Amino acid sequence: MTTAAANIGVVGLAVMGSNLARNLASREGNTVAVYNRSYERTELLISEHPEAGFIASETIDQFVASLAKPRTAIIMVQAGKGTDAVISQLTERFEPGDIIVDGGNALFTDTIRREKEVSSHGINFVGAGISGGEEGALKGPSIMPGGSAEAYKTLGPILSSIAAIAEGEPCVTHVGTDGAGHFVKMIHNGIEYADMQLIAEAYDILRQAGGYTPAEIADIFTEWNGGELESFLIEITAEVLKQVDAKTGKPLVDVILDQAGSKGTGVWTVQTSLNLGVPVSGIAEAVFARSLSSQAAQRAAVDGLPADAVKWSVEDRTEFVEDVRRALYASKLVAYAQGFDAIRAGAAEYGWSIDLGAVSKIWRGGCIIRAQFLNRIADAYKTNPQLPSLLFDPYFKKAVAGAVSSWRQVVAKASLAGIPVPAYASSLSYYDGLRSERLPAALVQGQRDFFGAHTYQRVDMPGTFHTLWSGDRSEVEAVPSTH
Ligand code: NAP
Repeated sequence: MTTAAANIGVVGLAVMGSNLARNLASREGNTVAVYNRSYERTELLISEHPEAGFIASETIDQFVASLAKPRTAIIMVQAGKGTDAVISQLTERFEPGDIIVDGGNALFTDTIRREKEVSSHGINFVGAGISGGEEGALKGPSIMPGGSAEAYKTLGPILSSIAAIAEGEPCVTHVGTDGAGHFVKMIHNGIEYADMQLIAEAYDILRQAGGYTPAEIADIFTEWNGGELESFLIEITAEVLKQVDAKTGKPLVDVILDQAGSKGTGVWTVQTSLNLGVPVSGIAEAVFARSLSSQAAQRAAVDGLPADAVKWSVEDRTEFVEDVRRALYASKLVAYAQGFDAIRAGAAEYGWSIDLGAVSKIWRGGCIIRAQFLNRIADAYKTNPQLPSLLFDPYFKKAVAGAVSSWRQVVAKASLAGIPVPAYASSLSYYDGLRSERLPAALVQGQRDFFGAHTYQRVDMPGTFHTLWSGDRSEVEAVPSTH
């Protein structure tokens, strides 16, 4: 098939690519060309979905010939080498002005590299984060495209046609140039890790301290989903907890091995944030909690490590559940605040102009962290685009004020009871660190100057100083700024 009739093409027809292609084909005005390295997948797709009217190609040359100009192709192949292979095939065949979109989960620095290479041929390259899993790809994902404004003119309407709709608005925005889209998708996933871990900790407290069954906790989550915690993750948590294992009749959660895996975006978020110097402690704890869970040999070798725990005696059950809920909400706000801080820092480092409010809006639908309260985040950044932290926004400040006492109670009692709450606790510590007028970092600076002459600054005069530690300890010398 070589008629140049398709306004959009998809390369890579595994679960994500074929669902995205079907989504595209179902929208008015789109004719979709499809291609996969092995033709069997293409045959399967076109035979199962004749209604889509796909233009299928057996070879990459036929595929390129089937695209109308400017040619636009979305790559949905295995991230890494697969993506590089397809990009190079398309770059060899495309012409200046054409558009290559990588919709896979690429590391943003790879996207920056690829954009440089592809655009040197006059071809537009767009790294687009796509969230929502297979169902999102089919019914409407949240899409985070980077790349040039020129490419977005052609691509924007196509992506808008397939994106999820939240309150009448498509969940897609031009995030920024080159790797900005994949960067924001990475942070989305990092926040997702924290959100999931926090929910898991809430479940663990309710179960261990409250003695509730998984089915009862499912009901609690369903109720929470009717309030400020309303979100896809809370909703599906209730579904997971309700599930009974057909084989044993036990709650399914009790027969699932307690070792959580990860595919890399959470790790990337933490690594990147470490490099940027942004404390994403809630996200980091979530990643580490999965790592600890997966230390199978080490956990199996545990031999009666002492706990010296104190039983958490729950007197008022309603109050207990409400405390856990409030602590969850406050910790979750910290995770989002940290994630948005990382986006702001990434934008400054890589020269992107990212509208944080617009990012929050496109996460309201289609993606895994979709939630009602993202509207509030959008409002916060609309009111003050320079907001130094989400936690300073009046609405969120009030929300945390109403939760902080519960938060402390829950973290303290969980700690006494020996229930691990790494994400709850680190989020509270972050909050306390952020609001502290004075931090013990002053002592750390003193230590650093002592052993490494790293110098320090003073609170009472400008300049850089070094103490002559081995002599008279009150002796201080000002050092030139080049020291
Ligand atoms: P996948 O399992 O990651 O990749 C399989 C696809 O990649 C097949 O079409 C395969 O072609 C193709 N492929 C692999 N190496 C290739 C190469 N060297 N040259 C050409 N094609 C190659 O597929 P997926 O799960 O549908 O995911 C696609 C992309 O979406 C990935 O980047 C993934 O990270 C991202 N993503 C996935 C999800 C999800 O929920 N699964 C969510 C968001 C984003 P053959 O059939 O010929 O082997």
